[in-house]
Amino acid sequence: MGRLDGKVAIISGGARGQGAAEVRLFASEGARVCFGDILDDEGMKLEAEVRELGCEVTYAHLDVTQEQDWQEMVQLAESTYGRLDVLVNNAGITLGTLGIDEIPLEEWQRLMDINVNGVFLGTKHAIPAMRRSSGGSIVNISSTAGIVGIGRSSAYTASKGAVRLFTKATALQHANDNIRCNSVHPGPVATPFLQELLDNPDKLQERLTRVPLGRLATPDDVAYGVLFLASDESSYMTGSELVIDGGTTAE
Ligand code: NAD
Repeated sequence: MGRLDGKVAIISGGARGQGAAEVRLFASEGARVCFGDILDDEGMKLEAEVRELGCEVTYAHLDVTQEQDWQEMVQLAESTYGRLDVLVNNAGITLGTLGIDEIPLEEWQRLMDINVNGVFLGTKHAIPAMRRSSGGSIVNISSTAGIVGIGRSSAYTASKGAVRLFTKATALQHANDNIRCNSVHPGPVATPFLQELLDNPDKLQERLTRVPLGRLATPDDVAYGVLFLASDESSYMTGSELVIDGGTTAE
């Protein structure tokens, strides 16, 4: 018995990193998965890898800032697998460590477009499909930067704070539709997102001094939390925050 047997899921930003870990884990737990990204080569490779294991997954190009792409992704899930039960809004980017007085407006807007508008658009188009399936679970990937301020990443912090509270508004507005919505707040995760840190052992050691468990999260550390929120095991949870941060925000 898989923990997601019978469920159909959409995962954004699924070609690599945490999203790819969720594609693999969801498929291995019995979900049929549509996933999208702007990295089409990586996405197609992952689709082939997971299909090789006998799982039902479909990759499609999805730029989360494009409403049309979202409409097509939801249609793809319904036409290929017949329904939609789970949406993981995972795609996200960060900026370098720029001072607030140095951030070009276009860079700020690009980040908000992906990290905030992308979550709104995915949610907007998933909800009617979830209603047709008599309910669903939306999991929004925020960050510890959505719980506490991170001075060196002001735009990222603002975007992840928006995701955290948009999650609660979604939960309240759609509880009557039996659609749950929760946020996940990872600490530092070893993915290409942290490439600069991974390439710099001194910076990495310095960063780890601020993580009580003393290591980076693996993509699976986060994916198991997302799996729990996607599954019926969390059926009484909505509007809540799952912190997976090695203890970072405990102090
Ligand atoms: P990652 O960079 O490896 O993966 C992000 C994915 O999102 C990539 O595949 C990328 O191509 C995709 N993406 C970017 N822009 C997109 C767009 N416009 N449309 C569709 N897809 C797009 O990083 P990750 O660590 O796997 O990040 C996943 C999520 O976790 C992000 O929301 C990130 O903000 C969040 N997060 C990451 C960390 C970390 O330390 N890695 C910590 C906390 C939260």
